[in-house]
Amino acid sequence: ESVVSAVASPEERDAEATVRPKRLSEFIAQERVREQLEVLLHSALRRGSPPDHILFSGSPGLGKTTLAMIVAAELGGGLRMTSGPAIERSGDLAAILTSLAAGDVLFIDEIHRIAKPAEELLYSAMEDFRVDVIVGKGPGATAIPLDVEPFTLVGATTRAGLLTGPMRDRFGFVGHLEFYNGTELTALLHRSARILGVPVTGEGVEEIAGRSRGTPRIANRLLRRVRDYAELRADGVVTLDAARAALRVYDVDDLGLDRLDKAVLAALVETFGGGPVGLSTLAVAVGEQPETVAEVCEPFLVRAGLLARTPRGRVATPAAWQHLGRTPPNSAFP
Ligand code: ADP
Repeated sequence: ESVVSAVASPEERDAEATVRPKRLSEFIAQERVREQLEVLLHSALRRGSPPDHILFSGSPGLGKTTLAMIVAAELGGGLRMTSGPAIERSGDLAAILTSLAAGDVLFIDEIHRIAKPAEELLYSAMEDFRVDVIVGKGPGATAIPLDVEPFTLVGATTRAGLLTGPMRDRFGFVGHLEFYNGTELTALLHRSARILGVPVTGEGVEEIAGRSRGTPRIANRLLRRVRDYAELRADGVVTLDAARAALRVYDVDDLGLDRLDKAVLAALVETFGGGPVGLSTLAVAVGEQPETVAEVCEPFLVRAGLLARTPRGRVATPAAWQHLGRTPPNSAFP
């Protein structure tokens, strides 16, 4: 796994839990979502009834799980966590729903991947706080209606558009998480360093923030890697020099590109003269599957303004040429 992957490895969970904000007031940036949530949660608390169901959308590592935990903490209720792929049979979901206590929060990560029968069960639970559990098979099967305590569903998905219409309609609140800018990630890293007891300089932290692809998960991971390096090779302080040296070891460049990202850009510019070139040709040139190039590398290269997907193929932008220390030809980018 790349050190700039936005997805957490299972071993990373404990490290992430250490720095996870527990309350809304500790959650950095995302002002709009934070303010809207504050109103939603506090008015629900004042009324003494659960708030509307909540959907968080946004790329991996931007804070969806963290916000789900914060919702439960702010409401003072219990939290049950599961994910769309983990719910294989609707019976699994019925068991979870009927065991909820009043005021609990049920968090379903990757809710767009829930199986159809379970999704339909979820509709009635969300809307009427009841589920029909089917007992038996064939003509003798009967539906037994069971009550569900008033609860709040918090769903997370990478894109709200991945949800079916009826599913989306049942969420009263949709919070879209944006990528974080350098200032926000710097603030986030100072907070993490304080919690971890890692001494840092402002420049050291800014350097890490600039290479973190707008993503808190990556920022926190790079902080831990630079800390390790500083402890082993320097005096333990996360300085500008320590950050630069450590990230060179991990092959993360000053824009946050890893080795494969750079290989894709280099092939595009040097082998194919800046493109346009087809995805599969490009993938062969870097020795990767087309899906890996399209799903792992390209989203960030596009977001960073280095690569464009055109109808005729992939094209390197002038910024890509410059990033590789080359002068873009005038005709490469219309
Ligand atoms: P997601 O569920 O969207 O993949 P997580 O909620 O698991 O992301 O967040 C990944 C890591 O980044 C966690 O360690 C979390 O504490 C941290 N993090 C995310 N957003 C913020 C934020 N706004 N402020 C502070 N830490 C954050």
